[in-house]
Amino acid sequence: MTPEDDDTTTVDSQATEDQGAADQPAEQSAADQTAEGSGSATSDTGNIREPNENETTAIDAAETERASALTRALQLIDALLGKRPADDTDGGSGAPEITTDDQRVIDAAGRWLLTPQVNSTFWDTLSTARDLVAKNQALNAAHHIDTTKNDYAYVYGLDTVDKGLFFGMPFFNTNSNCRREVVTHEYFHFLGLGHFYSTTTTGEALQCAHHMAELVFDIATGCTLGCESAVGSCRP
Ligand SMILES: [Zn+2]
Repeated sequence: MTPEDDDTTTVDSQATEDQGAADQPAEQSAADQTAEGSGSATSDTGNIREPNENETTAIDAAETERASALTRALQLIDALLGKRPADDTDGGSGAPEITTDDQRVIDAAGRWLLTPQVNSTFWDTLSTARDLVAKNQALNAAHHIDTTKNDYAYVYGLDTVDKGLFFGMPFFNTNSNCRREVVTHEYFHFLGLGHFYSTTTTGEALQCAHHMAELVFDIATGCTLGCESAVGSCRP
């Protein structure tokens, strides 16, 4: 429950979100993806405005933490991918020398990508995840406020980064670990990822914005599930 060392933003101890609230961006995004094509983000401008100063501060902090987490996760993933054996179906070509950082990636992948064994499936899965992280890193959306949506945030789905990223009031009433996970999660929706919160398969985990965002923060910070309690849970 200890905030990570580099978390310098104020943690809102008044977080009131619950599992239902955590799921709301999921539902919202799915609904909005359905609406895509029949309207635009600005068709209902009465509820949409630009962020005020305090909101901008909170959003920018989350974006900064998203950027650093993506960078760190990519570093560690790439370091491990560089050790992929030429023959990865058995130990005959020699097992790679696994560092503490490598083990961090392996453990996080086991938790979020459901890859308990370091085998060829693991390497292929990690490579796919790596590309998604890099694509997330390359995106930057404008920020808007939706004053009526009771959600943390939502986007309009695949390839709609130009429409921007929309924040509801709950985003500003939760903690900073939740906020950075939400922002990172939403950018994965721009890449076409959906929701498979309860999946038991690697294939679906790779298509789930939740699993991918948690993977990033698990690798980069050791802290995950920030939206499910005051600050989520952190490992050393
Ligand atoms: Zn979502």
